[in-house]
This record gives sequence, structure tokens and C-alpha cells, in this order.
Amino acid sequence: MYAPKLRELKEALRSLFSRPYTTKFPKEKYTPPEEYRGFPEYFEEDCVGCGTCYQVCPAGAIEMEDSLEEKKRVLRINYASCIQCGQCEEHCITGKGIRLTSKYVVLIPDLEKKDYYNSIEKELVLCEVCGGEIACRDHLKFVKDRLGAKAYAHPNFLIEAQRNFNEPAESHYKGKIRREDYIKEICPICRHRIVVEDEF
Ligand code: SF4
Ligand code: SF4
Repeated sequence: MYAPKLRELKEALRSLFSRPYTTKFPKEKYTPPEEYRGFPEYFEEDCVGCGTCYQVCPAGAIEMEDSLEEKKRVLRINYASCIQCGQCEEHCITGKGIRLTSKYVVLIPDLEKKDYYNSIEKELVLCEVCGGEIACRDHLKFVKDRLGAKAYAHPNFLIEAQRNFNEPAESHYKGKIRREDYIKEICPICRHRIVVEDEF
């Protein structure tokens, strides 16, 4: 027997009587270290539903679905596609709407399992004239707050500011675009049409 064989034997004996380096996961629950970069999650209070995370995700792991009938936007992270790169967190406009957590899941082929997803729902604001989407309610509030007094220059933000005091009276579109529609929650295209088409 030559020297390397002896060394290997020594190693084998040492391993036999020392603690294993690997964990017993999934048999035993694993607690990751603090620096562990796990799957991201949405945070209701801090997400405004802007959709930036959906746009920047390089793996296409975030889905965004807008329902005009239900006036809602759903953002959903699919952990089976997420590569834990952190781009969503880095580009989030509020800086904390989506954050990487120490969460991990064992991905087995059962994509219906709810543990594989994390989602959030936000109210969508629709144009009072054409019914198209403008933005999420929380997103409008967020921009209004960021603009401060400058927000009063835009009717959509003005209406949003009014909501702090009372709910604006219900208004109804009369079928033909008119100057009065300018002071309504409307999309940029309809606002442009009012300026161009209305006979002031
Ligand atoms: S961590 Fe990366 S891959 Fe995962 S959802 Fe965020 S941007 Fe997409
Ligand atoms: S606020 Fe952040 S988490 Fe929410 S949709 Fe926008 S980028 Fe995504």
C-alpha cells in the first residue's frame, strides 16, 4: 500500500465519525443563512401595481393579467421559472413592493401547487370615456404623492387628491367627447382628443 491510499483511508475514517456536511433536507426543515437569496414575494402595502417588475424579469417568471370587467390587475410570480436574480426588487419603483426573501420551495412537477406562486391584486382605474385602462389606483396615488403640489396640474391626480376628502360625484359620459370631460379620470388618448376635437 502506498502513501495516497493511506491518506484516503484516513479521510474515510474521519468522515465516518464526524458530523455530515450536508443537511437532511427535505426530511428535515432547512433554515437558510441570513444572506440566502430566495424567492421574491409581493408586499401589499408597498406594491402599487405599476408592472415594472413584470417588464424587467429576464426569466419571464412574472405574469401580469388585467381584467377590464373586474377592474383589477393580477401580478403573479411563478417560482418554477424564477432564477432569483433580484432584478424585480432592484427595479421596483417603490423599492419595496417586491422583495427577495429566504423562501425556498422544492420544485416537483405539480404546477398547480399554490406554494409555487406568489401573487398580488390591484384595483385598475379605467378611462371614463373609452373604458381603456389608465393605471392602478395605488400607482396614481403614488405618483400624486411624489409630485406634491405639481400634481394639481393634472386632472387625474387632482381627482385622486380630492379622494382624500370625499369621493368625487359620479359622472357619466354623454356619448360625444366634450370639454367637460376634461375634468374626469380619462386616458391620455381621450384627453388629447378633447383638446383637439372639442370646439372651445
Ligand atoms: S428574481 Fe429575477 S427571475 Fe425571479 S421574479 Fe424577480 S426578476 Fe424574475
Ligand atoms: S410597485 Fe414594485 S412590486 Fe409592485 S408592480 Fe411595481 S415594480 Fe412590481
